[in-house]
Amino acid sequence: MCGIIGITSYRPVSSAIINSLKKLEYRGYDSAGIATLSDGVINEVKSEGRVDNLEKNLAIKNMSGSVGIGHVRWATHGIPNTINAHPHSSDNVSIVHNGIIENSTILKKYLIDKGHVFKSQTDTEVIVHLITEHLKKDSLKESVIKMLKQLHGSFALGIIFKDEPDLIIGARRGSPLAVGYGSNENYLGSDSYALKSMTNKISYLNDGEFCIIKKDQVEFFDEKGIKVNKKVLELSTDEQNYEKGDFKHFMAKEIEEQPTTLKNCIKEYVDTINNDINIHNFPWNIKEISSVTLIGCGTAYHSCLMAKYWFEELTELDVTIDIASEFRYRKNRFKKDNLYIFVSQSGETADTYAALDLCNKHNVKTCSVVNVIESSIARDSNFVLPIHCGPEIGVASTKAFLGQMLVLYILVLKMGILKKDLDKDLYLNKIKDLKELPKLVEETLLTENKIQTVSSTFTDAKGSMFLGRGFSYPIALEGALKLKELVYVHAEGYPAGEMKHGPLALIEDGMPVVVLAPRDKYYPKTISNMQEVIARGAKVLLITNKSKDEIVSENIWETIEVESTNDDLLPFLLTIPLQKLAYYSALKKGYDIDKPRNLAKSVTVE
Ligand code: GLU
Repeated sequence: MCGIIGITSYRPVSSAIINSLKKLEYRGYDSAGIATLSDGVINEVKSEGRVDNLEKNLAIKNMSGSVGIGHVRWATHGIPNTINAHPHSSDNVSIVHNGIIENSTILKKYLIDKGHVFKSQTDTEVIVHLITEHLKKDSLKESVIKMLKQLHGSFALGIIFKDEPDLIIGARRGSPLAVGYGSNENYLGSDSYALKSMTNKISYLNDGEFCIIKKDQVEFFDEKGIKVNKKVLELSTDEQNYEKGDFKHFMAKEIEEQPTTLKNCIKEYVDTINNDINIHNFPWNIKEISSVTLIGCGTAYHSCLMAKYWFEELTELDVTIDIASEFRYRKNRFKKDNLYIFVSQSGETADTYAALDLCNKHNVKTCSVVNVIESSIARDSNFVLPIHCGPEIGVASTKAFLGQMLVLYILVLKMGILKKDLDKDLYLNKIKDLKELPKLVEETLLTENKIQTVSSTFTDAKGSMFLGRGFSYPIALEGALKLKELVYVHAEGYPAGEMKHGPLALIEDGMPVVVLAPRDKYYPKTISNMQEVIARGAKVLLITNKSKDEIVSENIWETIEVESTNDDLLPFLLTIPLQKLAYYSALKKGYDIDKPRNLAKSVTVE
């Protein structure tokens, strides 16, 4: 959450900062700001709302300066207005911050007692005053070390100083931060995406480290100020992945891309010649694992739930799943024969990272399923399984969800065969079906028109429900989440069989209800539950798979049929119409589909 950029150069930096902020906007978009140092004076421009507003304000101000910082905010402390927008500055320093300073109230009191006057409601402003205070008597480096020591919480920081004409400090605890290397200029950024148009050479700060960036030199230090050496990584140049192309929104592009991203991922993991799964380098003996815990947040949590059903169906492993923000504070039993799997698109999700960190401290087996392979979660887990689906820019996850499910399913099959829980013929058949999945997703994507028509009912609804049993239940949760995220309509995902124990009371005449009832072993039971909601006035959109058997049920409002495959893989296909339903409903409302209100991608705060 929130994006930081810093550039120190031989040339004016404000327009390059604005360009990077546009790329970082998916991480936060309630306000934006920039500060540069010119002729010994720090100048700031800040705006409420999008980077476009900032750019307009900047055009009026004509900002010079060859060192500068920029920020897109996702407010945690203080409303999203211009005063609370970053950078926050005193006469001699200016700061951009991602994260939360947990002891800001205590620090603020201490600083007010020392005579500091606060302008904003943010937690960030304490950092400005703290460092200003230290600079009165200490060197720059000592001031940074002392200030960092006083901060509790998670943060990534970019700082410029009035008296240092080409210097930026970067510091990281919890939130991600990267340094980019250019020719006679260097950069600081929340992620490699923001830096990519300027350089493909980057290094990542580890937790607790800080760096001093000048236009011709970069130095890294640990929290005590001892110098550390860094590897310089070369990034691939896949710029077109970051563009919308002819699509109206990134989300539309990312939905349509799914057959390709699944195909790419299958290519990485499936040995099509030997019909085997190419995961051979587990750092542990799989036979020693007797249980699995899957941990994630939001959509990633839904893919964990999906994997629980598959693990139970295809292996003998005991499976638990957990929401990362709950796991990290509970009194867990850490077991050596348990595999802890962490799922996160960005690989930077703060809660998921904290849960991983906790597991690492207990020295247990950890594995991560991520999209960004250079991320903190990937770097700090024993074993990484990338989902290979390319950058996902739309805040509401689509292709990453399918990618996570795919990799988890592949892992289930591999563990099942290695543990001899899965019969060899069945294993081979499942792999054969898996290879067909991208084509089936492609065909399911063609069910366009009907979804566009039914979406207006969801746009106008007070609320809606998404029901499913077994393998379809996690997908019902994900479908409801998509509608909440994008259409701002209350949507509840529920196990179809559980409705009668309470939520059935919510059903009223005309309420749209999505029922996921593929022709799997749960089909007859789900159809009965569907009848129960129809009988109480619900307008049912049934999503099932194509079959020669007729649907024996009356009074269904609309039916959408996805392609057919084995029961394990149907969840992938059922997800497609739900993604489109949310997309078209939001489109009808005219909402900002790629940047839904109050949300941001890459959730780096707790
Ligand atoms: N906590 C800070 C604020 O509310 C930073 C939030 C962010 O990461 O954007 O201003």
